[in-house]
Amino acid sequence: MNGPRIAVVGAGVLGAWTARSLQLRGARVTLVDAWGPANSRSSSGDETRIIRGAYGDQPHYVELTDRSFHLWEELGSGSSGPLLDRIGALWLFGDDSSFVTQALPHLERWHFPIEPLETTTARRRFPQINWDGVVAAYHEHRAGLLYARRAVREVVARFASAGGELRLARVQPRSATNAGRHGLVLADGSSLKADRYVFAAGPWLCELFPDWIGPWLRPTRQEVFYFGTPAGDADLTGAALPAWIDNARGSWYGIPGNEDRGFKISSNDLGAVVDPTTAERTPDAVRLQRARVHLGFRFPALAGAPLLESRVCQYENTPDRDLLIDFSPEDPNTLVIGGGSGHAFKMGPALGELVARITLGEVPPPAIFQTGRFASWPPEDPRLKAFAALQR
Ligand SMILES: Cc1cc2nc3c(=O)[nH]c(=O)nc-3n(C[C@H](O)[C@H](O)[C@H](O)COP(=O)(O)OP(=O)(O)OC[C@H]3O[C@@H](n4cnc5c(N)ncnc54)[C@H](O)[C@@H]3O)c2cc1C
Repeated sequence: MNGPRIAVVGAGVLGAWTARSLQLRGARVTLVDAWGPANSRSSSGDETRIIRGAYGDQPHYVELTDRSFHLWEELGSGSSGPLLDRIGALWLFGDDSSFVTQALPHLERWHFPIEPLETTTARRRFPQINWDGVVAAYHEHRAGLLYARRAVREVVARFASAGGELRLARVQPRSATNAGRHGLVLADGSSLKADRYVFAAGPWLCELFPDWIGPWLRPTRQEVFYFGTPAGDADLTGAALPAWIDNARGSWYGIPGNEDRGFKISSNDLGAVVDPTTAERTPDAVRLQRARVHLGFRFPALAGAPLLESRVCQYENTPDRDLLIDFSPEDPNTLVIGGGSGHAFKMGPALGELVARITLGEVPPPAIFQTGRFASWPPEDPRLKAFAALQR
């Protein structure tokens, strides 16, 4: 191969798929990660992630998810263990179900079947659920769970076996801004030179680009709990229950027992701003208690269930929770992809393709993902106020 040499920093879902897509387009790629692909500090390192198509009135995400669905299935068909389990997704709403109703034309266009559930059908189909407070429910059929950590490591394994270079090394943050001029400096003092640089460093983008990305990214602490189901009870596994997103009472979501690892529950409420390198990953007692209360309310058979496992990872939030894909204002050969804001995993394959095409000069970064979008926001925009209120 004599395509351009490209260094990709970060082997989470976005860096892994970017590296693989660049490689498939003939680039010579070095993928660097400080702690390894889908490591326990990264946002991509959990057991599972939900994949679903409904995205409010944001058709670009539906299109990216549709493309990703195909690529995840293709990846899974050649892997030793399952990567995607199509158990469906169940949406629960109180009075406001606009997130799904706005999505209906987009779901139809990209072939994501979604079924409104009448109360009686819902109760009959899913008797495990307490339907109190649910005004509207939808069953999305082309949806389910991704085995997150396993899937990322599979992408990286394909990359490496096709000749891609994987390096376990930390890029010195201060070298990122000047990568185009001087190359990257690694923690052992060695340097890494390439023609172009893609930074897919999740929440660490803040420390790599403090002036450019720092103002628009806040990593928040998010907790995930895995509770034990009653012995012999298949009703609380993926065999009988889809992944679920409960907006009828707060903002909760979860995945029923995947590969017998426990019933997962997490909240979309943003936690404190954290440093992803030094953050302790012990669960917060208050958030654990809130999760227990919601679990027992919505799934009565799980009231009093024991906690089996927990994880603490981070959302890497932007003010509008939309992605960041952009060239550095100081260097046309440096690109960032990040700002997943708690929802980017599912779209990793299509985002990797998109970023590969941008890096190779085939298309520009979409305006909706460029950092310049914030410049037109008035200071009193409530999203900016909420973002500024996120504190360490
Ligand atoms: C609790 C939780 C639930 C979520 N649920 C969903 C869901 O159901 N569906 C969904 O689609 N998305 C979900 N997400 C979001 C999704 O997981 C993330 O958006 C996605 O994993 C981000 O991937 P990334 O590659 O950008 O970052 P990361 O996975 O964080 O990867 C960044 C990598 O960069 C490396 N790195 C950082 N700095 C350096 C450096 N200086 N040198 C070298 N390497 C470096 C790190 O080691 C890391 O491996 C969830 C997130 C969380 C936290």
